[in-house]
Amino acid sequence: MNSATVTFLRHAYKEYYFRSSDSIEVPDDIQSREFGYIPFGGGMVRHLTFKNRGEALVEFLKQSPSSIYCSNARYESPALPIEEKGWLGAELIFDIDATDIPTHCKRGHDLWYCEQCHSSAKLPKPPKCPKCGGPTSEFHGTCDVCLGAAKEHAQRVVAFLTEDFAVSRELVRVYFSGNRGYHLHVFDGRFDLLDQQARAEVADYVRGASLPLSQTLASTLRRRPTGGPLGEGWTRRITGYVDERRQTYPGTLQKLVSEAVSHQHALVDSSVTTDVHRVFRLSGTLHGNTGMCKAGVGSIDDFDAQKAPVVLSSKPVALKVDFYPRFKINGEEFGPFKAESVELPTYAAVQILTRGLGEVA
Ligand SMILES: [Zn+2]
Ligand SMILES: [Zn+2]
Repeated sequence: MNSATVTFLRHAYKEYYFRSSDSIEVPDDIQSREFGYIPFGGGMVRHLTFKNRGEALVEFLKQSPSSIYCSNARYESPALPIEEKGWLGAELIFDIDATDIPTHCKRGHDLWYCEQCHSSAKLPKPPKCPKCGGPTSEFHGTCDVCLGAAKEHAQRVVAFLTEDFAVSRELVRVYFSGNRGYHLHVFDGRFDLLDQQARAEVADYVRGASLPLSQTLASTLRRRPTGGPLGEGWTRRITGYVDERRQTYPGTLQKLVSEAVSHQHALVDSSVTTDVHRVFRLSGTLHGNTGMCKAGVGSIDDFDAQKAPVVLSSKPVALKVDFYPRFKINGEEFGPFKAESVELPTYAAVQILTRGLGEVA
C-alpha cells in the first residue's frame, strides 16, 4: 500500500468518524474496558483505556485507523498486561462467518490469484503461480447465498439462546460484522463469569457438536411412543423435526436425525466464544478490509448485508486496480478488473484498496 493510498483511506475513514460519531456504540462501563486499534499500514495497538465516551471519540477521529476494537471483558486495570488486568467477567459472544458455513456458491466467488502476474483460478490455491512462479493468495468473496446462510445461522443462535437458555430477546444484540458475518453479544449477567471451559460447552451445544451419534439418537426415537412428549433442548428440536417428516421421508431414520441436526445447528466460531480476553470490533466503527461498518441489526429478517453497512461516501475516486473479481455492494455490481484504471464510488474503491489489490491513481 503506497502512502497516497494510506492517506486516502485515512481521510475516507476520518470523514465517516467526523460525520457519524453518534453511531459508535461505546459501552457504559467504558473505564473497565480495554480498547485497541490497527492503523492503516501498521500493527495492532492494544491495552488502551478511556475515561469517557468523549475521550474515546476524540482519539478515534484523530487516529482514523483501519479497525477499532473493545474488549467484551471488564477489568480492574484494563491498561495493564493481560495477567495483571484483574478480570471481572465478560459478555458471552458468538461469531458467525459465511466462510465457515458450507454453501455451494463458494466455488463461484472464492479463488486464488497470483500476487505478481494477477492470473487467477478456482481453489485450491497452488503453492506457486503456475504461469510465473509468483506467490499466491486466496480471495474469498460473498454473495446473497452465503450471506443469507450466515443470517440463518445467526437466527438459530438467537433461537438457542431464547428457547434453550431462557435468555430474554432484548438481551441479545445482533450486529453485522462489517465483512462476512454476524456477531451476537449476550448482555445476560448469568454468563459473565463463565470460564473458557463453560463457554466451550455453550458453543458446542449450539453447534450440535456434543450430541450422541445420529445412530444412537435414531434408536432412541424408534422406541418413542407415537405422540409422546417432545422433551427439551436438542431432544425437542430433533424429535419435533423427525415427527413432522418421518411419514414421507425417503431415507433412513438415522439420516433424518442427521438432517434434523444440520438444519438446526449454528456454526459459530468456538475459538471466539471461548476467548475471554479478546477485543472485538466496536459497533458503529468501520471494518479494515471492507470500509463497511459493524452495524446493529434490528430485524434480522429484513437486514440487507450488502446495503445497510455501506456508510462511506459515493464520491468518485480514480484508482489503478491490479486484480479484483466481480463484486456487489450497495445494490450495484462492479468488476471484474485486471490491470486497469477505473473510477469508482469511494465505498467500492475502499474494498479494493484495503485488500492491497489496487492503489489510488
Ligand atoms: Zn503469476
Ligand atoms: Zn456466496
